[in-house]
Amino acid sequence: MDTFSAATSNCDVLVIGGGPAGSTAAALLAERGYRVTLLEKAHHPRFHIGESLLPANLPLLEKLGVANEVKAIGMEKWGAEFISPWHDHKQTFEFAEAMDKSMPMAYQVRRSEFDEILIRNASRKNARVVEGCQVQDVNFLPNHAGALVQARNDDGSVETVHARFVLDASGRDTFLGNRFKAKQRNKKHNSTAIYGHFAGAERNTGKAKGNISIFWFEHGWFWFIPLADGTTSVGAVSWPYYLKTRNKKSLEQFLQETIDLCTPLRERLQHAQLTSPVEATGNFSYVCDRTHGSNYLLLGDAYTFIDPVFSSGVMLAMQSAFIGADTVDTCLRHPQQAAAAMKKFDRTMRIGPKEFSWFIYRVTNPTMRDMFMGPRNIFHVKEALLSVLAGDVYGKTPIRGPLLIFKGIYYIVSLLNFRRTFLAWRMRKHNIRVVDEAGVAVN
Ligand SMILES: Cc1cc2nc3c(=O)[nH]c(=O)nc-3n(C[C@H](O)[C@H](O)[C@H](O)COP(=O)(O)OP(=O)(O)OC[C@H]3O[C@@H](n4cnc5c(N)ncnc54)[C@H](O)[C@@H]3O)c2cc1C
Repeated sequence: MDTFSAATSNCDVLVIGGGPAGSTAAALLAERGYRVTLLEKAHHPRFHIGESLLPANLPLLEKLGVANEVKAIGMEKWGAEFISPWHDHKQTFEFAEAMDKSMPMAYQVRRSEFDEILIRNASRKNARVVEGCQVQDVNFLPNHAGALVQARNDDGSVETVHARFVLDASGRDTFLGNRFKAKQRNKKHNSTAIYGHFAGAERNTGKAKGNISIFWFEHGWFWFIPLADGTTSVGAVSWPYYLKTRNKKSLEQFLQETIDLCTPLRERLQHAQLTSPVEATGNFSYVCDRTHGSNYLLLGDAYTFIDPVFSSGVMLAMQSAFIGADTVDTCLRHPQQAAAAMKKFDRTMRIGPKEFSWFIYRVTNPTMRDMFMGPRNIFHVKEALLSVLAGDVYGKTPIRGPLLIFKGIYYIVSLLNFRRTFLAWRMRKHNIRVVDEAGVAVN
């Protein structure tokens, strides 16, 4: 406690991390007149993986007042296509066919540019933004007196901030989750990724040129994300055992060999050159055992991350910031309503991960693949599926009934193909086992 004897500054809300969750929450709270300090350990623009946004992101960008800036750097994404080695056609989903027709598109973005727009927006709204400043310790004070937060600047100087409320938006660093030992491995899922940027990839044409392509292959799936400047982001998400087979090969060589396993992707990259270092991340599926506590909330990836297959991470992070900002506002303005507000925050935080995880856990299952590759719109199930793919899981869109029917069909088809279902279940159980991933860098 000694190091916390004197705060160098005070604020109402201290935000740990200036990614989409932290910068969004900082902007919203500063706009409401709170004194907000946002500490970000990196300097923007900085690289981050996660370049494909969902249509449900767009209303959030409008509300933040950054929609035009994002439009200027974004590649229009009108849909998603799935390519499967077990099917002889590709399947394209257009967001315009979702239940809510008002959100027909999204963007692919370079995260260095996108995240910089968001953090500069927080500054513009009068949040105090400090980059190159890593939070190292948080001590919550008794009697709801807030917290003392200690952070180290790049030049070695240390600052201590007294905050009435702390928002942990530290992403996969999960600062408070680690501190409270609240972070748990997701026992139902486990995957790894290896990825890089390419120039000269063969893209779709016309309106489909910005679509994300998902290619299934034997060990998982690939993303192919066209960015506005001609670069294409390509990554393989695989079961952990597969990344482990890299042994001493360079990441570049291993990514190339992995691409070679997927003929349709290899063809689209045959004239492409790698333009970035190749990176890999391991075992990234986790959840914290809480969303909040006395005087703090966990936002975005600081609470949970499951899998990138439906490109939901940035939308969930920003959505959590919107609900988080409302929650902090209630807690600070009407402390007697804090418990109810936290409860509501908790409920809302769990909606997105729950909705997406049902699909994520099954997306490599043959029954689910068949349903994706041959979708039918009986009882609006295709529209509802598209609404989930668009990230429209919080609103008033009536997706629940059709989704129940979709799930019912899935279970019936699985039962009718019992042997295939059993083998797939057994294989998945084997695939999600934890393997030692020494040598895999986490970004
Ligand atoms: C392989 C892969 C592919 C993905 N693809 C997609 C995709 O296509 N679309 C999508 O929407 N999502 C994708 N995601 C997920 C997406 O990247 C995240 O969900 C999203 O970035 C979460 O935002 P956040 O603000 O919670 O965290 P982050 O964006 O990670 O931001 C956290 C920030 O906190 C800072 N920080 C951390 N610790 C500290 C500290 N102690 N002090 C100060 N600052 C700190 C970090 O530097 C960082 O800037 C992908 C994820 C992975 C792993």
